[in-house]
Amino acid sequence: MSTGSSDKSSDPPTPQSPGPDPVHDLPEEVLRAGWRRFWSKREKRWYYFNKMTGESLWEMPVVHKSPHNGVPGGSDRITDPLGISVPDTPTDVRSPPPFDLKRRRDSEASITSLGSMSPSKRMKMEGPVYWNFDILSNAIIFEHPPCTMPPVHPEAESYRAQLTNKLRSQYQELCQTREGIDAPRESFNRWILERKVTDRGNDPMLPTHCAHEVSPSMYREIMSDIPVRGCRLRHPVEARKYVFKYAEAAKKMVESRNCSPDSRKIVKWSVEDIMQWLRRQNSATLEDYQERLTHLKTQCGPHLTEAAKSSVEGICQKIYHLSCESAKKIYDKHWEILKEHGIEEIQRKFEVHKRRVQCYQIHMVVSCPRLPSISYHVENNVGCLRFKGEVLTLNQNYLQKLEHLYRIHCRDDRPLENFLPRVWCLLRRYQGFADSGHDFARRWATPGRGGERSSGSNGPASQTLFGSSPNEGTGLQGALPVPVFEAVHKHFGVTFELFASPLNCYFRQYCSAFPDTDGYFGSRGPVLDFHPVSGSFEANPPFSEELLNAMAEHFERLLATSSEPLSFLVFIPEWRDPPIPALLRMENSIFKRKTVVVPAFEHEYRSGLQHVCSGSDLYHKSVHGTLVLILQNEAGFAKWGPTDERVKGLLDAYKPHGNPSPSTSATEGRRESVDGKSATESRSNSKEEKR
Ligand code: SAH
Repeated sequence: MSTGSSDKSSDPPTPQSPGPDPVHDLPEEVLRAGWRRFWSKREKRWYYFNKMTGESLWEMPVVHKSPHNGVPGGSDRITDPLGISVPDTPTDVRSPPPFDLKRRRDSEASITSLGSMSPSKRMKMEGPVYWNFDILSNAIIFEHPPCTMPPVHPEAESYRAQLTNKLRSQYQELCQTREGIDAPRESFNRWILERKVTDRGNDPMLPTHCAHEVSPSMYREIMSDIPVRGCRLRHPVEARKYVFKYAEAAKKMVESRNCSPDSRKIVKWSVEDIMQWLRRQNSATLEDYQERLTHLKTQCGPHLTEAAKSSVEGICQKIYHLSCESAKKIYDKHWEILKEHGIEEIQRKFEVHKRRVQCYQIHMVVSCPRLPSISYHVENNVGCLRFKGEVLTLNQNYLQKLEHLYRIHCRDDRPLENFLPRVWCLLRRYQGFADSGHDFARRWATPGRGGERSSGSNGPASQTLFGSSPNEGTGLQGALPVPVFEAVHKHFGVTFELFASPLNCYFRQYCSAFPDTDGYFGSRGPVLDFHPVSGSFEANPPFSEELLNAMAEHFERLLATSSEPLSFLVFIPEWRDPPIPALLRMENSIFKRKTVVVPAFEHEYRSGLQHVCSGSDLYHKSVHGTLVLILQNEAGFAKWGPTDERVKGLLDAYKPHGNPSPSTSATEGRRESVDGKSATESRSNSKEEKR
């Protein structure tokens, strides 16, 4: 709440003089932007409330008359933070509900962050820009209840990170002690993604309320590393060693575990057979070894799985229980902090009517206290945010990006007092300690994919969603190149990303995994809780089989129930060996209008570390083909159907020459290697790794 003196601020409420709205008596453009004037009994002065955004101000808001007759899009961003008035809006669509956000008392205002900046200051970006926040959404959604999660707090977020990292170490330890393997790379991150598909618990990240304790994805990934982890076979000598290692481990396993005599016999017999073959071979080729290994795995695999089943299920159950315990501790601590500020949990259920509204950002209804200070300084263009000795970094232009998003969307903090603490919490959730110098990990990492693991051996690296090994988790955050976003907007009317974070979003409106950290920066919440009726969307999901299945089902349901223009452009790797179920489902869907293939090595992805990496590490050649599946209902097809011209526009955007990066360094720095290996190597290995 601003403290400046307002017009008529000390006048008592008197009958209004006639105006465009006799009840509120404000200039027409101010009224049109959603502002109304009310009398504060507590402060004994007038205040201004925006019924569209829920924002409140002591001063009369300044709204410039725009060429579009004052409607958002041509109006001031500050007074139109939602950008909800769009040309295609059907007439019966309503504004989002304001719910009951509180005005802040003047005494609460102070500088915790970049608070000295005027909220009305226009954003001017320094450095390259990889987003476009001028594009407003054409999405119409069903109204959803506000978010009753506790507002983020650095103390609580730091505690969540601490417990999550402990959970990661416990997982690693369980895999080591029970199965003699390292925890499969990315399997913890994918476990979170998979669990969140069904979780009904109250922690934004750690699962606590899932129907089944055993996670199919964690089970699958551990099992695929038993009895030994998969390995890239490049040379016959290496292959020979690996076959030997596998055979030994298989034998040891059936000898030491509880399994049926028949299983034991078959495995031992297969092992003996291959050992004899190995002893006879002096000049076998790589292919010979691979063939033998495949045969051995086919023979032994089912028996080894049977032998390890209960133990692997035990790991999954244990991790789930530990997650529940950790989430409970975080919850208690978080509320303890908030209660110290007199903030109570909201128990009541918010009623939502099934009505169509223009797409709006998350409403956090629990009040937020003044957050503790975050110290901020810049080192070599990198912003360093410190809270109690924990330093998190991001490139300066990304801090500006976050500030821009915050100014557009955040409704409870006009003086930006809580901006830096909320950025710190966001980074803490996604990123972790400064660790930006690493090479880029591949997008869509598969089980066993991607370099050596060194859990716990990376010095201070301690990350929450991303994990603690070099590059871990970043493969789940890679983004489409900027020209592709421009093309999908231009040719297919896309205005919205369905899988994003405030760090990697291109549009100002998007869905993301964490409503509580991301909502202040424009997130509309997790994709599966998002129910659009119309609009054109881009989806570039992270790889989790279960999330992909749920996504495909969700999109089909939405398309089947809406008669208004609805369109999804889904970008997924062309993996057909074997094809993932979600791919088959979408390819065979009655809503599929076209599948566009972008060949491997002929296109790029933007790094999952884009907010911390240098320009030269920004783009990376894709070692797999990308499929663009275009799913549309009849009206969506009529409006944004994949005509030859549109598809050409999309493919052209992928071409290197049509892919001018906003910064020259990013263009110069495109690399053909991933994780230090040549693209060709990475690709030839992906089959073995995907298993
Ligand atoms: N926005 C970019 C990058 C996508 S990377 C693009 O569209 O190209 C995939 C993103 O999905 C990650 O940022 C990840 O955190 C996010 N994500 C994970 N689970 C999600 C969920 N349930 N809903 C929405 N986004 C999710």
